[in-house]
Amino acid sequence: MKALFAATLVFLILCSSLSYADSVNSQPSGSTPSAADSVALQSTTEKGGATEYPLTPERQLQLRSYARFVNIWRFVQFFVSIGLLALLLFTGLSARFRDWAGVARRKFWVTWLYLAIVMVVLYLLELPFDYYRGFVVESQYGFMNQTGGEWLLDTLKSLGLGIVFGIIPMWFFYYLINRVKRWWLVFSIGAIPLMIFFIVVAPVFIMPMFNKFEPLKDKQLESEILMLANKAGISGSHVYEVDASKQSSKINAYVTGLFGTKRIVLYDTLIKGFTPDEIKFVMGHEMGHYVMHHIWWGLGMAIVFIVFMLWLTDRTIHPVITRFRTRFKFDRLGDIASLPLVLIFLSVFSFVFQPVSNGLSRYFENQSDRYGMKISGVSGETAATAFEKLSAYNLADPDPNPLVEFWFYDHPALKKRIEAVRVLAGQ
Ligand SMILES: [Zn+2]
Repeated sequence: MKALFAATLVFLILCSSLSYADSVNSQPSGSTPSAADSVALQSTTEKGGATEYPLTPERQLQLRSYARFVNIWRFVQFFVSIGLLALLLFTGLSARFRDWAGVARRKFWVTWLYLAIVMVVLYLLELPFDYYRGFVVESQYGFMNQTGGEWLLDTLKSLGLGIVFGIIPMWFFYYLINRVKRWWLVFSIGAIPLMIFFIVVAPVFIMPMFNKFEPLKDKQLESEILMLANKAGISGSHVYEVDASKQSSKINAYVTGLFGTKRIVLYDTLIKGFTPDEIKFVMGHEMGHYVMHHIWWGLGMAIVFIVFMLWLTDRTIHPVITRFRTRFKFDRLGDIASLPLVLIFLSVFSFVFQPVSNGLSRYFENQSDRYGMKISGVSGETAATAFEKLSAYNLADPDPNPLVEFWFYDHPALKKRIEAVRVLAGQ
């Protein structure tokens, strides 16, 4: 589900050096690795080995410290990216990059070259932080199944994709600002086909650049999932397993794509660690997202958000440019050198308004949990165990501070989900 909200910030995602592989469900304002539709937790799986469920006392302690770290890092990530963007502005570097890009002569190529320079520079400046968060810490907690080199290669792929695709929203954005008074409205409307395009294309062309997607190997399980899909009235859907264990031992499943590219994806880690009934519940939950059109609702929400955030940017950004124009070395929003400033504004607004999108996401997740229970017909205990495993394998805090949940969680706290499925089963 988070994918929908990631789409909210298509502009941010594409124009900043965020990793595409994780962007499917990560926080819009950061590149925190997070899983697609699940419940954030973590596993001690050795490569291909046994997972730890139930949690040992040591793992319990690790869960707490990991949860604490993740929460602190949300802020570190946020302030680091704002700080680096501000650095590009206040040192006049952004304007200098624009001047360098001037060698390309034609406006379109200048814009693209500028974007490429900014993205590469940001990538390099953020690399130490990303490496620490995405590799070192993940290794410490036993999630990492990649070598440092493989990890680095994935981040380079993401950077390349960002440079290739980022030009689309960026060109459109500056083209409109220089010509249309209500550019924020036109941009948002224009972003609709763009977002649909990315949701359609990503599962077929982009995600396979990071992982291998195959039909389920377990034919018995596949036929059970297809039967479930039938019961849910979903026809022509495809069930894939992805070798997510290549990167991380965390567990997840998600639904993505639209039209012909829509697909249900199970992480191989899920297949390995869960019983068939638990998997059926998880997949029933994913089908709930299909059946209740959460992708479209999410998209609609995303549009509303984009309109609002861009409008707010337009209302507030001009005085800042005027105030610092000598330092920034640009004096209007229509100058491409303003990109870092635009990204700062969008990051701050999306951080501030996260509780709204996350609140809606949690509501969808609740609905899907109900649906999953109903369609799979599993017992409350089975569903509860599935959640407990997610918490154990992914080191997700089942019972976070309510404020943390309110602000940052796009899924309800696992403890609440567990209580809810038990109540549902008792009805
Ligand atoms: Zn979900």
